[in-house]
Amino acid sequence: MRYVDQPHPSLRSAIGEAGAAIAQGREPPSSAFDIIRDLAAGALQSATVSGVPAILEFEGIDQIVGTIAWAALDLLRGDELSRLKQCPPDDCQWLFIDRTKNLSRRWCDMATCGNRAKKHAHRHGA
Ligand SMILES: [Zn+2]
Repeated sequence: MRYVDQPHPSLRSAIGEAGAAIAQGREPPSSAFDIIRDLAAGALQSATVSGVPAILEFEGIDQIVGTIAWAALDLLRGDELSRLKQCPPDDCQWLFIDRTKNLSRRWCDMATCGNRAKKHAHRHGA
């Protein structure tokens, strides 16, 4: 999951805080949940709901903020939460969903962080 391009810094950090806590087996801070809830609720208030199954269409900036806040809520309530992981390097720490059968994925991206860690381990004789 990459939230790099979304324009709401407090939403981004709230999702990052909650996700990192969950990935590390800690209780997520309720302040992070509050931010996600408030932004999702605000977006929903001006959204259009139509169709079967229902589709949410957000207005203006909420097309981004609302979509991300609701995606975060769906993730936080959903079955895939147990697959949420955080990439280990200090300068990465991206959150991702491990969809491998045996939950063996360690890196956000094998081509970048995975290879970098391998090279590092190799150089240090590990
Ligand atoms: Zn990474």
